[in-house]
Amino acid sequence: MGKLAKWLRILGFDTFYDPGGSTKKNMDSGGKNRILLTRTERVRDGKMPQECIFITSNNPFEQLRQVIDTLGIIYTDTHPFSRCIRCNTRIQPVDKDCVRGNVPDFIWQTRDSFQICGRCRRIYWPGSHTERSHDIIMRLFDRYDSR
Ligand SMILES: [Zn+2]
Repeated sequence: MGKLAKWLRILGFDTFYDPGGSTKKNMDSGGKNRILLTRTERVRDGKMPQECIFITSNNPFEQLRQVIDTLGIIYTDTHPFSRCIRCNTRIQPVDKDCVRGNVPDFIWQTRDSFQICGRCRRIYWPGSHTERSHDIIMRLFDRYDSR
């Protein structure tokens, strides 16, 4: 589920992930418009205060596909690479000079645009979490044919 949460963030979805929290607590802290993704069988029979998807697969990619299929998410609903995958905060463009010394030298020399997470200060750049991810997203939404 940690990988699923990471992928939902990569796609730009506001994703709250608390592996140690109880299901009840997660539902309460989620807020009205959140959808609960759970692997806890027990929840299925309980009274659900909000929309809930019971995740069946162990495979993160299949889990992601299940969420997308169930919610009818299409490619244009997503905002890939707009959130920090570590803490879920929206990332912002940052001046190249500001990140010098905080990214590997060869990255600083070869990239012109950088983004930063305002909360945990993690720095992103084209390719930092996009190369392989882009392929997977395209595969997920069957986008290869329409290019
Ligand atoms: Zn962050």
